[in-house]
Amino acid sequence: MAKIQMITPIVEMDGDEMTRVLWKMIKDELILPFVELKSEYYDLGLLHRNATRDQVTVDAALATKKYGVAVKCATITPNRQRMEEYPQLTEMWKSPNGTIRSILDGTVFRAPIVLDCIQPVVRNWRKPITIARHAYGDVYKAVDLRTDEPGECVMTFRGESGKETAISVQKVDGPAVWQGAHNKEKSIRSFARACFQYAIDTRQDLWFSTKDTIAKVYDGEFKKVFEEEFENYKARFEELGITYFYTLIDDAVARVIRSEGGYIWACKNYDGDVMSDMVSTAFGSLAMMTSVLVAPDGTTEYEAAHGTVTRHYYRYLRGEETSTNPMATIFAWSGALRKRGELDGIEELQTFGDRLEKACLDTLNAGIMTKDLVNLVDDTVTPTPVNSREFLAAIRSRLEEAYSV
Ligand code: NAP
Ligand code: MG
Repeated sequence: MAKIQMITPIVEMDGDEMTRVLWKMIKDELILPFVELKSEYYDLGLLHRNATRDQVTVDAALATKKYGVAVKCATITPNRQRMEEYPQLTEMWKSPNGTIRSILDGTVFRAPIVLDCIQPVVRNWRKPITIARHAYGDVYKAVDLRTDEPGECVMTFRGESGKETAISVQKVDGPAVWQGAHNKEKSIRSFARACFQYAIDTRQDLWFSTKDTIAKVYDGEFKKVFEEEFENYKARFEELGITYFYTLIDDAVARVIRSEGGYIWACKNYDGDVMSDMVSTAFGSLAMMTSVLVAPDGTTEYEAAHGTVTRHYYRYLRGEETSTNPMATIFAWSGALRKRGELDGIEELQTFGDRLEKACLDTLNAGIMTKDLVNLVDDTVTPTPVNSREFLAAIRSRLEEAYSV
């Protein structure tokens, strides 16, 4: 078979530990034999971020803005323990995902890879539920205060014009706790745009929920901005036969549980934090969660939702074969290549993304799987636990078969 040709490069961000090991294996086994890969490579491994004073992360994000599609490996976000583990670090570098997200102004969409033989805890869920989490403000950028005497709390906004607006929060007769939270209209608007655009790209209905009956102004603003933005996407939604649906968060929870899945659920920051853990756990495994960052202009970055799988990496360093699940990382590659194919009008590249994913799913449905999945499958398959290398080889042989006909 002649290798599939590309036109525009994808931005490739390498990472750390076990996922860095898998990254190379995935490229060698599943990508390079089939695709004449054009990528602009950025090494976001911790030591190279340190050597470049994290400039490489900024450069990778800017390249993503330029080219439009990126694929990213999981990376270490250093904490105190990592500073001891890597004494050469000159600073406790910030989360690369946080840096990239703030440059791209994106929204994160997380969706599980679903299998017939892994039953979600919620029995009627048949299709994936994608959580779209707003990633700015609210309680995550709030200030807290505790007071210990009777009194009144007043919130004052001081405009640059000099105009002041004040509102009494509450009068209290004893000790109390307080919180000041905010969000920016601009951020809410780009969240809304990213959600509508992603619904169009993936041809799925979009649900959005807040608590605007209680937070009439605050959550009311979210609802209003979504309604306004929807006007710009309505025609495309109608063409595609998809819908936008707003409801209260408590009603949404009840509907989600009763649903069969197959839609995007947009959530405010805190709701998205909580609901994405609920949804991913109910679907099965962190190793099977995909994650994609979408900017309002359509720029897209694909990655796995899990981290660098440190415990497996230390086993790997001792020379042991590990049974680390590469599914979410493979799907990051298939997603990025398919998207690149769509943007450049290269049908073979889109088909490759589909075939790669199908080869993965066929392998799992045949019972060949990494150890994390063995206890999750039902009795419709007899699991054969394999290590990562054997798993990738099994996928490759199916992919080769798909190309030999
Ligand atoms: P993690 O790497 O996701 O791993 C947590 C545990 O989940 C693993 O020890 C493993 O359990 C299981 N697991 C996760 N992915 C798996 C896979 N693909 N196959 C099999 N099992 C898998 O999370 P962490 O240990 O909290 O974080 C490790 C490092 O990753 C940290 O330095 C953190 O900063 C970074 N991180 C990066 C990202 C990102 O770049 N997007 C996201 C999260 C965390 P068992 O050990 O029981 O097998
Ligand atoms: Mg969380």
